[in-house]
Amino acid sequence: MSNLPPAFESRMRKQLGQEADAFFKALNQPAPVSIRLNPIKTTGKIPDTLQSIVDKKTEWCPEGYFLSQRPVFTLDPCYQGGAYYVQEASSMFIGYLLKQIIHEQPVKVLDLCAAPGGKSSLTVSALPADSLLVSNEVIRSRATILKENMLRWGYSNVVVTNNDPSDFSAFESAFDIVIVDAPCSGEGMFRKDPASIGEWNENNLTVCRDRQKRILTDIWKTLKPDGYLIYSTCTYNPGENEEILEWICRQFQAESIPVSLPADTITPGNSTAYGYHFYPHKTTGEGFFCGLIRKKDGEKYRPKKNKKQKTTTFPIPPELSRLLIHSENLTAQNEDNRITILPDMHGEFIRQLRSELKVTAYGCEAAELYNRKIKLLHPLALTTWLNKQACSCYEAELPEALRYLKKEDIQVNAKTGEWILITYRHIALGWGKNLGNRLNNYLPKEWRIRMDLPTDLI
Ligand code: SAM
Repeated sequence: MSNLPPAFESRMRKQLGQEADAFFKALNQPAPVSIRLNPIKTTGKIPDTLQSIVDKKTEWCPEGYFLSQRPVFTLDPCYQGGAYYVQEASSMFIGYLLKQIIHEQPVKVLDLCAAPGGKSSLTVSALPADSLLVSNEVIRSRATILKENMLRWGYSNVVVTNNDPSDFSAFESAFDIVIVDAPCSGEGMFRKDPASIGEWNENNLTVCRDRQKRILTDIWKTLKPDGYLIYSTCTYNPGENEEILEWICRQFQAESIPVSLPADTITPGNSTAYGYHFYPHKTTGEGFFCGLIRKKDGEKYRPKKNKKQKTTTFPIPPELSRLLIHSENLTAQNEDNRITILPDMHGEFIRQLRSELKVTAYGCEAAELYNRKIKLLHPLALTTWLNKQACSCYEAELPEALRYLKKEDIQVNAKTGEWILITYRHIALGWGKNLGNRLNNYLPKEWRIRMDLPTDLI
């Protein structure tokens, strides 16, 4: 890479010593492509659409795989149905960290800087049953993408919010784990996203460091005593990495926790706090840093009395409960004739979140009631709570699946008025309803594939 900022280059030479040449050489190699399977939707089986390009497994994430080339993911219905997420391999290490700290007890987790959803989708798949993830993003446009990606991933024990870290002050000691994948100077993305090189400057390193401290100060109280903070960045800059971990330990009642490393290609940071670097000349992946911190003090969480109107929950209507797995642990809410299904045990906490924060999605928005009829909604097709055996399914071939995803008409033989779950390689894509001579395509229009479909695929 010839256009690296000289100040970055000289700092990296000092930081890496004899390894620096290998590091700069790695930056000239193409960025590896990797994906992570959705354990529930795929049951660990690589989708047929990727079989011919799967290379090897990633080192620390059992669901992670490298691909030998980058396909057009938009044109893979399995991707559209949430069978896998395209994620850079180093950052899948967060799943390994989670395994060190979560056991069988359900936990509440806050992923504070979550868009577009890589760590959130990884995290929710790693949580024990009955856990809840709050997946937050402060920037509105990015929060929309986060919501879409989390709905596609299909785990519905998730609340998506669009808030500033300071807005979480009402949730003192509410979370067992807080993940701060902080906005940073992004040096680890130089290879994957060369445009980020132009945004780098030394002044910005200070801006990033100060913002990271502000975010951590705002959010620290939300962590329970003995709870864990996972801090990560995609930069090599010690000022945003190990120095931030040291600062947390000085600033709060906190201790840095070491982890035993699954590979000797991971480089422990050079500091009094335990942090782990991922350099592209050593690990197959992009630049990444993370560390684990445990909170020592704090108050127990006492939910405030809910000031706003109570939303009453009620048993799930039979037309819906027959479509759901484990419906006995779920409950329903009806707001303006839209029925949302949520985990019974988190109903009160979700209400609290909704009264204090800008919640953009929670549970599974399953159906709309109109004229005493029920209209099934897209999140129900995508949720892992859906019992596909109870649905009338239409298994589409690739051209039909793509036309469906482009929101075009497809022909399906079914009873008039019947709700049909359109699937591709048994991955649910969305709903259709037969109107006699044609299928009404219920894919929301904002979800449709916008690119032209190549003629050889349709
Ligand atoms: N965790 C994400 C993933 O795995 O897909 C990537 C997160 S990215 C490294 C950092 C995120 O922090 C961005 O989405 C950015 O919009 C958000 N962000 C920017 N400024 C912020 C702030 N002041 N407070 C909290 N989050 C912020």
